[in-house]
Amino acid sequence: MTGKFATRGLVFILMLSANALLCVAQSATHREIAITIDDLPAGAADHMSGSEILEMTTKLLTTLRDQKVPAVGFVNEKKLFRMGEVDDRITALNMWLDYGFELGNHTYSHTSLNRVSLQDWEEEVVRGETVTRMLLEQHKMHLRYFRHPYLDVGRDLETRRQAEAFLAERGYRIAPITMDAWDWMYAGVYDDARRRDDTALQQQLVSSYLSYTTAVFDYYEKFSRELIGYEPKQIILLHGNWLEADHIGELLDLLRKRGYQFITLQDALGDAAYSMSDEYVGEEGTNWIDHWAITRGRPPQNTHVFPQWVIDRSNALHHQLPPSPTP
Ligand SMILES: [Zn+2]
Repeated sequence: MTGKFATRGLVFILMLSANALLCVAQSATHREIAITIDDLPAGAADHMSGSEILEMTTKLLTTLRDQKVPAVGFVNEKKLFRMGEVDDRITALNMWLDYGFELGNHTYSHTSLNRVSLQDWEEEVVRGETVTRMLLEQHKMHLRYFRHPYLDVGRDLETRRQAEAFLAERGYRIAPITMDAWDWMYAGVYDDARRRDDTALQQQLVSSYLSYTTAVFDYYEKFSRELIGYEPKQIILLHGNWLEADHIGELLDLLRKRGYQFITLQDALGDAAYSMSDEYVGEEGTNWIDHWAITRGRPPQNTHVFPQWVIDRSNALHHQLPPSPTP
């Protein structure tokens, strides 16, 4: 071997080793997460036309499909029924299945189990099945997942258990969540900035959303290790909105950098954590790591704080007051 080829060989070997080291570093933390997206066909469906919902859905699902990220979407069928727009709205739902994703039930009109009687709530569950079940059957799938609106699982244990028995009897598996960065709180402010073409504010919101997501993951990854001894296969709660349609790629990148692989909800639910004792009840819905912690008498302490300026902006929009300045 000549000197020139020997040098080339050495460089090649060094490059291989560097690559190997990089792979080891990247796989050092192996994490898994399932993506779930609520409030379909769109969180703000009341303020969107059918064609805008289709445009948003196409953008969101294209990113997920191109990156081979599985997802389950949860439907509020009441949002389908607007005069002259039913076809577009059902088409948007059907796209989820045509693109290879799955749909679940989120009640007909997003009704909290903590706000109505058990019987009225059960009717909401049944009423929320019609179109979704029909579309699933056309794709040779069946309706199997349920997500509680507001994550409200009941104000007392008896109601919680009766609702669970009702859901099980109708063939549902409850879809818990462990990670939630309140994208819905950002979404309304983001929509308004988008409509006004305020790109600076949109960028501020996206960067705040991603840093808040980082804070949530930092907190709950550590808290779950302390509480149950490991990080379970996580399930993140997102919503059908323009913020996600425009920026879910950045969120997926952030999660990949933390070592996450994207798995199906079915795979995530196979984690033994989701069979642990859970007696949480309360006025406020929350994630299942909180459920397990509160059940064990170890409620979460010193949690991250949601950025106040986003709450102020959101409140201002709802009350049509002048918004407070962005930081
Ligand atoms: Zn919801």
